[in-house]
Amino acid sequence: MIATINSKVLEKKDLTASVTSMWLEVPQSFDFEPGQYVIISIPTVAGKIKRSYSLASSPAQKGRVELCIKRIEGGIASGYFKNVKEGM
Ligand SMILES: Cc1cc2nc3c(=O)[nH]c(=O)nc-3n(C[C@H](O)[C@H](O)[C@H](O)COP(=O)(O)OP(=O)(O)OC[C@H]3O[C@@H](n4cnc5c(N)ncnc54)[C@H](O)[C@@H]3O)c2cc1C
Repeated sequence: MIATINSKVLEKKDLTASVTSMWLEVPQSFDFEPGQYVIISIPTVAGKIKRSYSLASSPAQKGRVELCIKRIEGGIASGYFKNVKEGM
């Protein structure tokens, strides 16, 4: 089933020079199987773009999910995530 969620960034930290971990708030009812991914809608000046990210946290953890994002030099989403702050 596809659901749309407006999510808040709960936590963001760099794991390496090019990989960032980002925890997003989701409803307690949000459930998934290992291997599933989410599609993030990213605002740009030219409109919204969509990028897919695997869910890196355990489904047993409720109310939040972790994404591990490898930043690509010059990438649209990569540039956006670089500037994302906790609470956004
Ligand atoms: C099912 C699925 C799950 C995914 N899960 C993850 C995930 O968990 N973590 C994650 O970081 N990404 C994941 N991706 C990739 C992610 O969706 C984006 O494609 C990636 O973040 C690059 O987006 P961008 O907008 O920054 O780069 P773009 O602006 O789309 O691309 C910029 C340039 O970089 C090149 N490029 C794009 N991706 C790569 C790459 N991986 N290596 C080298 N060059 C590249 C493009 O060809 C282009 O020239 C997943 C993709 C799919 C389809």
